[in-house]
Order: sequence, then structure tokens, then C-alpha cells
Amino acid sequence: MATNKLLRDEDMIKANTWSCVTGAGLKKYQALSLNNGAVIQAVSSRDYGNMALHTGDQPEQVIFNRKLFLDSLYLNLENLVTAEQIHSTNIQIVDKSHLGAGALSLQTALSKTDALITAERGVVLGILTADCLPIFIYDPMTPAIAIIHAGWRGTIAEISRLTMDRMIHDFKTDPGNCQVAIGPSICSACFEVSSEVADLFGKVNSETVIPTESGFEVDLSGFNSYLLQHAGVKPEHIDIANLCTGCHNEDFFSYRIEKGTKGRMMGIISLQ
Ligand SMILES: [Zn+2]
Repeated sequence: MATNKLLRDEDMIKANTWSCVTGAGLKKYQALSLNNGAVIQAVSSRDYGNMALHTGDQPEQVIFNRKLFLDSLYLNLENLVTAEQIHSTNIQIVDKSHLGAGALSLQTALSKTDALITAERGVVLGILTADCLPIFIYDPMTPAIAIIHAGWRGTIAEISRLTMDRMIHDFKTDPGNCQVAIGPSICSACFEVSSEVADLFGKVNSETVIPTESGFEVDLSGFNSYLLQHAGVKPEHIDIANLCTGCHNEDFFSYRIEKGTKGRMMGIISLQ
């Protein structure tokens, strides 16, 4: 376990794009390129506890956990906007009228949505994950931000490309200016799939499908990176955390490894 930890920290330092920040003994993960004064972005670790209101934990405890996490970033829980995530490609533009949606109760979360975009300062966009990919986009020129929940279904349905298309359409975003970060999520070695699922990915980008003795593995971060590059994002502007929720289950909740955990991490991004 200790060796794993050492390797992981070395890996991150080598990549030099994400950092593990510890405050009051609690870890969170932040993309260096997105925490530049104009934007605040982070993903909680399991140190902060479960961030989801829909998995059966006491709401009071979840709200306490959310507040602890957002307080550590000097952000206000009342400004959080979350969605009822359903592995769709539904995208919603968020403005100040949505402030607090889903922050304190499940009923007020934006319904059936897996990506949020805003050009409003102070709005805190949040999504919940435990293996799925939290993807963050920052358009510094508009400025505008987006957050995406991409599991394998959303990934193959191209939610990351569709979100970029929506930013181009609604905000005249130039993808060439955008900075993207892909957070802690399931690695290819932990994500073995059937040949049917592998085929879906292989038809679009065969490089992200890895045959093994027992089946196929899919690199979901690599696939989303491919889609975003195809949409015009520069490869050097895509920072992949390379932190697997399954391999590092001591730090992250993993739906797959824990066979259906209640725990979810929260990813957030906010324009300042
Ligand atoms: Zn893994």
C-alpha cells in the first residue's frame, strides 16, 4: 500500500498537471491549469465522505460533507448547482436563476442532465462520480465553463463533444482556446467490457480498445480526449489526472470495485 502511494505521487509529479491538496487532513485533487485565479476547480476524495443525496445516506450528513468540501475552496454551498444524472447526453445552460439547485435537496436538482455550462461568475457547477469521468472545460475568452458526467454510455454517445458543440453554438467558444481537465476515474485495466461494448468504442477510435486474454479493456479518458481533440481542443490543453478510482480505492469511491457503493465524489468548477 505504501509503495502504491509513493508511485502514485511520483506519477502525478511527472505529469505535473494535477495536484493533491490536503487541508485539515482531507485530500482533494485539482488541475493546475484550471486553478489560475479566474477559475476554481476540484474533485473531492473519499476523505470528505459521500457527496450524493440520492444513494440513501442521511441528507444532513451529505450536506455537512458538501459544505466542508466547498468551504475548503472558499465557495458557498448556496451557489452550488447539481443535476439528476442519468447517463444521457442532455446538456443544460445554467444561470443565476438556478443557484442552489440540488444543493440541499434532491428534488431541486436539474432534472435528467449530465452536463452543465455557465458563463456566470460565482455559480458553482457540480457533478457526482464514483468511476465515471468528471470532465471540466474552461473557455477563457468568453469566459465560460462546463462540467460533464461521462460514464461509458455518455462517453460513447459523445457527451464531451456535444458539450463543446453547445459552447461553440451558445457562446461562440473557440475550442482552440479551451483548457480541459479529466479527473479521477476508472482506468482501462479496471474497465473490462464485453466484445459488444468494445466494438462500439473500436469503431470510433480503435486505439482506446485494448484486447486482453479474457476480453477487452477500454480507455475512457483517452476516448474522451480523442473526442475533444476532434472537436478542436489542442492535445496539450487536455490534462488527464491518471488517477484510477479502482486502483486507488483508499482515496476514491469506486462503484465497480465496491460493487455498488453509496459513496460519490463531487467535482466542481466555478468562474470567479
Ligand atoms: Zn484501475
